Amino acid sequence: MTSAEAKRLEALYALEILDTPREERFDRITRTAVRLFRMPKSLLAFVDETRAWVKSEVGTSIDWVPRESSFSELAIESDEPVVVPDARSDPRFAGHPLVVGPDRIRSLAAHPLRTPDKHRVGALLVMDSEPHDFSEEELEALTDLCRLAEEELADIEHARLLKLETESQARVRAVMDATSEGILLIGRDRVVGYHNRRFLELFGLKREQIDGHPLASLDGVIDRVFDEPDEFRRKMDEADEYPDGVTRFPVKQHYPGIRDLEVYSAPVTDREDRDLGRLHAFRDVTKEREAERIKDEFVSLVSHELRTPLTSIKGYVDLLIDGDAGEITEEQKEFLEIVKSNSDRLVMLVNDLLDVSRIEAGRINLRLQPVDMADSINEVAMSLRPLMEQKRQSLRLELPKDLPQVMADRDRVAEIVTNLLSNAHKYTLEGGSVTVQAQVAGGEVQVEVSDTGVGMTPEERDKLFTKFFRAQNPATQDVSGTGLGLNIVKSLVDKQGGRIWVTSEPMKGSTFTFTIPIDGTQAPETTAAEAAPARAPLTKVGARILVVDDDPDHAGLFRHFLERGGYQVLVAHDARTALQTAQREGPDLITLDVNLPDTDGFTLLEWLKADPATTSIPVIMLSVVDDTGRGRLMGAVDYLQKSTIDERVLLSHVGSIVRSQEPQVVLVADDDHEIRSQIAGHLRRAGHEVLEAADGEQALQAVRGVQLPTLALLDLRMPRLDGLGVLRALRHDEAILSLPVVMMTDNPGMSASDRSAIDRLGASVLLHKPCSAEELAELIGHGLEKEDA
Ligand code: ADP
Repeated sequence: MTSAEAKRLEALYALEILDTPREERFDRITRTAVRLFRMPKSLLAFVDETRAWVKSEVGTSIDWVPRESSFSELAIESDEPVVVPDARSDPRFAGHPLVVGPDRIRSLAAHPLRTPDKHRVGALLVMDSEPHDFSEEELEALTDLCRLAEEELADIEHARLLKLETESQARVRAVMDATSEGILLIGRDRVVGYHNRRFLELFGLKREQIDGHPLASLDGVIDRVFDEPDEFRRKMDEADEYPDGVTRFPVKQHYPGIRDLEVYSAPVTDREDRDLGRLHAFRDVTKEREAERIKDEFVSLVSHELRTPLTSIKGYVDLLIDGDAGEITEEQKEFLEIVKSNSDRLVMLVNDLLDVSRIEAGRINLRLQPVDMADSINEVAMSLRPLMEQKRQSLRLELPKDLPQVMADRDRVAEIVTNLLSNAHKYTLEGGSVTVQAQVAGGEVQVEVSDTGVGMTPEERDKLFTKFFRAQNPATQDVSGTGLGLNIVKSLVDKQGGRIWVTSEPMKGSTFTFTIPIDGTQAPETTAAEAAPARAPLTKVGARILVVDDDPDHAGLFRHFLERGGYQVLVAHDARTALQTAQREGPDLITLDVNLPDTDGFTLLEWLKADPATTSIPVIMLSVVDDTGRGRLMGAVDYLQKSTIDERVLLSHVGSIVRSQEPQVVLVADDDHEIRSQIAGHLRRAGHEVLEAADGEQALQAVRGVQLPTLALLDLRMPRLDGLGVLRALRHDEAILSLPVVMMTDNPGMSASDRSAIDRLGASVLLHKPCSAEELAELIGHGLEKEDA
């Protein structure tokens, strides 16, 4: 079969007309033909592979004839009307079955029928058993009738395509409705073009509420659904500004359910590349975020738990090495050094984990100050040189003399450089070289750490900076690591307003480059608590110190350090004994652990402050929790982080002088009674006066009442007027414009955009509920510092 014939048959079969019942629309044509030509027979046939199948006829009662002996075939072959005035005098039909057979056809005209695509699929015939001279006029009429038949064919074709289209649309809709993402198409004209069922479910909408509505008319819906409607609109507009771009952004909704969503937005074009608008897919990521939060909390908890015993191990090993427990042999010393270096490693790992979890909870504070990058690099290089020499690696520093200072956190900068340099050392083979260069580039100091090491593939490079990523190649397998370093490095660089990137080639080497702004404008501000200058150790020889700690190992360690500093030490392991000892002995100072077996350190602190005999004894709170807030809040004079305490730190704190702590009037606005009383309780115990409000309106009334608070804690979501609403109202009122505000939210994963809305209005900090007293106190500290500034 020729390909033209194959196509012709395909077009015929697509009409789905073969072997179908008679239809008036074709009968009408054959009927008209017999009348017009005054000939008794007419038929309309379609020619498939083997036969001419008759769709309509007058005067013949033929169903079909074999293709090769059909007149229709003649018309199809010639593509012209075949006209036979008298078959008997036409040699072509000498033995033709229709001529010599019972039908006795003597005259005929056959005109081909074409589909819209010009495939000749059949023919229209008029026939007579008498001779017939066809006039020009008659032949034109035949052509006209054929055109009518062809229009019917076009109609069939059209209906078929329409059906296909409808079916495929229904299929697409079914698929779209079955997807778990809410899908919304907004046309170029900013009108809702399409949405799926999930979209309606997600936002509690009915089809008629949005179908065909312009986006601008959906403001009410947006206000009702999203936590930050303005932010959502801004993000949608921003997405619009990048017609070629695909963007993703997080949003939070509180109606009809509380969900974390991720919006994927992409431009949509049809097959002809015509712009159809933008597609927005809303994915519910609430469970993922929750899982992340639980995992982070777990990591944080485990790390805290690990730090306590580690502190003991480290402290006692130090004492042993220092000979405090008697002379030790060289071999014992060597072994102890191994224990020490491994516990140091373990501390580092735990600290890495804690760093990650703190960074993720947004709880890392920077101590910004002018930092000489060259100094930092030199220091780190010096400490790593011995390691590099062991691997016969060369280390070259190219640091210009006039490098300006950057505004950064000195320790964090050192952490970044240490990490990059130690990676360069770890992932470079023996005898390789590492170079550190620094230079000024566009208001930033740019530091490059390059090595001639094992490098990495583009795929590995893409995964760099993600948590726990370690390349799986033989060159890195023998090197120990956690895969957390670069993740922390990136966060630290980001937090200080810089950028970090990498270029690398397998087995050639890698270059890590990071920048830190010179003026530090983009870096978040420091907290006064951390920025406080280190106090010089003062020792009051002979002073008596009461060490209160439930862990005898810790207590023993402190006793040792303090005794070496010339103090007399008393120890108590629980709160009741501690109180009795304090009342009886009147120590010069008390160090107080937060965790005690009978009650917590804060309660003991309250008892001590309530008793005239002990109220003036300075107290230092000790905790494994790195939070400086609660101790201060409770009226403790100082606060120490237990896991990093070494002798110097301890002595310096012990020797420091008491700072005063004025009570404050704090407004607590939260519709959740339990949370509100919990927070109020923390505050009252610390000596603060508390005003309570159950919603935003009450909060505003309280602020405008007799007693002006010095600080307000506002729940983000409250009935009648939410936290943001209160904040806005405050910022419009001259009298209370400068009231420091701490926003509270249930949501630990609050996005940067949420924060920015709040920041614009000048709330100082965000507090995640349920909050610990430590967090609360820290935030109060921040709020009041801002006011002082
Ligand atoms: P760790 O070194 O503890 O594994 P990092 O986060 O510092 O964790 O690094 C992650 C991974 O990135 C490493 O395991 C290594 O595969 C790759 N990597 C980091 N620095 C380099 C480097 N300079 N050259 C080659 N690969 C590196």
